[in-house]
Amino acid sequence: HTIGEALAMAARRWPDAEALVSAHQGVRWTWSELLARADAFAAGLLALGLEPGDRVGVWGPNSAEWALAQFATARAGLIQVNINPAYRLSELEYTLNKVGVRALICAEAFKTSDYVGMVEALAPEIAVARPGALKAERIPTLTTVIKMGAAPRSGWLAFADAPARASGEDQARLTEIGARLDRNDPINIQFTSGTTGLPKGATLSHRNILNNAQFVGAAMGLRAGDRLCIPVPLYHCFGMVMGNLACTVHGATMVYPSEGFDPLAVLSTVEKERCTGLHGVPTMFIAELEHPEFERFDLSSLRTGIMAGSPCPIEVMRKVIDRMNMREVGIAYGMTETSPVSFQTSVDDPVERRVSTVGRVQPHLEVKVVDAFGNPVPRGEPGELCTRGYSVMLGYWDDPEKTAEAVDAEGWMHTGDLAVIDDEGYGNIVGRIKDMVIRGGENVYPREIEEFLFRHPKVEDVQVVGVPDPKFGEELCAWVKLRAGETATQAEIVDFCRGQIAHYKVPRYVRFVEAFPMTVTGKIQKFEIRAAMIAELG
Ligand code: ATP
Ligand code: MG
Repeated sequence: HTIGEALAMAARRWPDAEALVSAHQGVRWTWSELLARADAFAAGLLALGLEPGDRVGVWGPNSAEWALAQFATARAGLIQVNINPAYRLSELEYTLNKVGVRALICAEAFKTSDYVGMVEALAPEIAVARPGALKAERIPTLTTVIKMGAAPRSGWLAFADAPARASGEDQARLTEIGARLDRNDPINIQFTSGTTGLPKGATLSHRNILNNAQFVGAAMGLRAGDRLCIPVPLYHCFGMVMGNLACTVHGATMVYPSEGFDPLAVLSTVEKERCTGLHGVPTMFIAELEHPEFERFDLSSLRTGIMAGSPCPIEVMRKVIDRMNMREVGIAYGMTETSPVSFQTSVDDPVERRVSTVGRVQPHLEVKVVDAFGNPVPRGEPGELCTRGYSVMLGYWDDPEKTAEAVDAEGWMHTGDLAVIDDEGYGNIVGRIKDMVIRGGENVYPREIEEFLFRHPKVEDVQVVGVPDPKFGEELCAWVKLRAGETATQAEIVDFCRGQIAHYKVPRYVRFVEAFPMTVTGKIQKFEIRAAMIAELG
């Protein structure tokens, strides 16, 4: 199916059930209402002269409008380009030009970012033109800006006014386009998190992401009547595919607690909306569990959810099960380029497996683990994980060179992650190849040391990186975030490791920090930690 057909099917199967609740906006739509609104908006987009295959940027934090833009573009065969909410002027200009965007749907502002100001600076012509009428000099393909939320400046189109522009002819065209869309058509350009450098735009088809949403939901036991709290950004595959689309396929309600991540809003929304599921990257679950008001909330409605995106500490998984009542919670592993999930635990897996592995490979996908020369390594040994199947992206947008580096001629996606797969097929992500540390000739996986330090009662979160060292090649450095109210010395942390882990894995440097450098998706940017340490050590 196409994404548009999946939405229509949801509206047929569960017309009066809640599709979407945007708690911070007070919006509630049923599936039939969501479909009707999506089609009205889609026809409005066609009325602006947009054609299937045109790129439409969507720039904003989580909101009902964001979801509507997602479904409307899919219904009209327009390629939605998810733009990072944290972008500033130069990144925005680069991205819009890179994909040749024809329309931009943007929010007013987010945190300290003035979106309107930035877009006006880039495309002042459009602020005075009729929607769809003029082109901007710095973004020559752009003809229309549609603003979410309150009324826009003259020349921009208000989100709420878009449907009124459509004629009967546009409605008819929408139906005709829907009938000839192909599931292999590109429908979405999603950007990677930018954890290791500049984000890359993965072009994905209906078939890529819709099938993934189906399998992701099935493995976590998602079903009609479930209410899934989605605090992860919609612009990223975690929110858009594992959140919105999994709900669409399985008939669960998408619940947005806030614009950007806010642990208190998550806790109160889960309680108020009686959410049965909750997604998050590890840093989000940690922030919720450690919140001073955590005990005040009734989270008894929770059952399932997914932790994913970066290494998931066992201790944190256990707490999520015990203290948040998420007895069916699981771990998923994936990447934007593979729609995203390729490994996932299942509700049927024993708890031990669900907290300590990324589960087994998803149905209809192939995996292999290879050495530096591309030869498969024996079972149980670490190597680079490669995945192949329906979920592998069509390619990086307008970048055949980078695409060829990532996806080989046989269709294998080279993930850049080190994995171990055991005899029963359960996977473990040892870390990124880039993050592996070679200290005095020994391969050290920072993840292992992080897992160990998580056991220290004062440690809330910890990141281990390698820094250059004249004697050993690299030395280990741990950045530790202590739990609220705790103090500790470097020696205390080092002593905790001594005798418990091999001597060459004991961090040489320990630094106490309040926060880590992070992407909007809540991932910790180790390259920034490394850079800060290199600067400090000279
Ligand atoms: P960039 O590619 O821009 O540097 P990124 O790789 O973080 O950023 P994403 O596509 O959002 O961008 O994330 C995919 C990566 O996240 C994987 O390649 C892997 O390194 C990591 N990851 C995802 N899930 C897990 C998991 N469960 N355990 C460990 N690592 C994970
Ligand atoms: Mg990546």
